[in-house]
Amino acid sequence: MGEAPALLVDDLQRSFEQGFDLKPSGFETTLLVGHKTYVIGGINDSTSSGVLIFNKLTGQWVIPTVLGTKPESLNGHSSVLLNEDRILIIKKDLKSNESVWFLEVDTQFVRDQNKKFGTEVVAWSKGVIGNVERPVVISGPSGVGKGTLINKLMKEFPTMFGFSVSHTTRAPREKEQNGVHYHFTKHIVMEEDIRSGKFLEHAAVHGNLYGTSIEAVDVVADAGKRCILDIDVQGARSVRASSLEAVFIFVRPPSFEELENRLRARGTETEEQIQKRLRNAKAEMEQGKSPGLFDHILVNDDIEVCYDQLKDILGISESMKTAPITASKVFDLPADLSLTKINEKIVINREADEQKVVLDLTSMKGGAPGRTRGLDMYAFDQ
Ligand code: 5GP
Repeated sequence: MGEAPALLVDDLQRSFEQGFDLKPSGFETTLLVGHKTYVIGGINDSTSSGVLIFNKLTGQWVIPTVLGTKPESLNGHSSVLLNEDRILIIKKDLKSNESVWFLEVDTQFVRDQNKKFGTEVVAWSKGVIGNVERPVVISGPSGVGKGTLINKLMKEFPTMFGFSVSHTTRAPREKEQNGVHYHFTKHIVMEEDIRSGKFLEHAAVHGNLYGTSIEAVDVVADAGKRCILDIDVQGARSVRASSLEAVFIFVRPPSFEELENRLRARGTETEEQIQKRLRNAKAEMEQGKSPGLFDHILVNDDIEVCYDQLKDILGISESMKTAPITASKVFDLPADLSLTKINEKIVINREADEQKVVLDLTSMKGGAPGRTRGLDMYAFDQ
């Protein structure tokens, strides 16, 4: 298991006939899933997708639409098929700070995207070893004080939380910095990025497009921090339906009149924009009551009280203020490993001295377009 056979001469001949002149570099792995052969990495195929599919029924080679962030290098890896729907990929010299990867080939997400794109789709998902805190989605009408709550949290617990920087087509406000508050972008660019699968969720809010890119969430997780998303209710609904398991919090104002006062007091919008935001706030407050959408509802009457309640929900205390970032523990793996699948466990075998490590997938969850979580790694103990 793990080391799949090299590309067949016949397949190579066929690739040549179809204009693909494949030159195996010796680094690729090939895996058969149903009637399709997936060739991963290493191929000198003049495409940069990293994945090629040979459909044995049609005899055709296909360059799939590749979603998600792919591993930086695929040179030197082992692969193994899991549940007929995803391929686990482990770099041969995996270091403590690196991840394992999944190439999803027939998961629900991939099937949905297949329909959407009308092409063959595969999706990368990074594997996370060890327990990570769930991301936090905060929604609520404009002016309710979400931004203030989030800023307080990030200031008090800078090592614990990171903000998911959204994309938006709206113009920057005074003092707003590109890449810090938002990634300010053009409609046409954002629409293209949405089409090509770069966004976890997106929504039209107050006449502009807003969205959370997969990368925005990944950057925070890569820094070992818990991700905070400030998104509207439509976005929260999309995230709820996605593989990102988050805590969903809705912030309400004590009254509609108070919301109007606050929105005017902050003085960042024109009267027309204020009217639009107030109309949307009514709808948003209704949608905020949707059963099963939000785990917690906070009323922001007094900001300090509300902030304390938020910290309670997130289970954080004073002692965590300067807690160091603890990287998830991964074993350093050698260059000469082989993989054996035993039920939900992958035994990684160091061939030189027979040392074995187990990658336990029993509690595996999540997946593309986000990360695959719940993985455990420990020494093999027979
Ligand atoms: P503002 O223009 O005041 O910064 O944000 C307007 C609304 O857009 C807020 O309710 C905010 O939560 C929401 N929003 C900001 N970023 C995103 C995003 O990435 N996705 C979605 N769905 N909503 C967002």
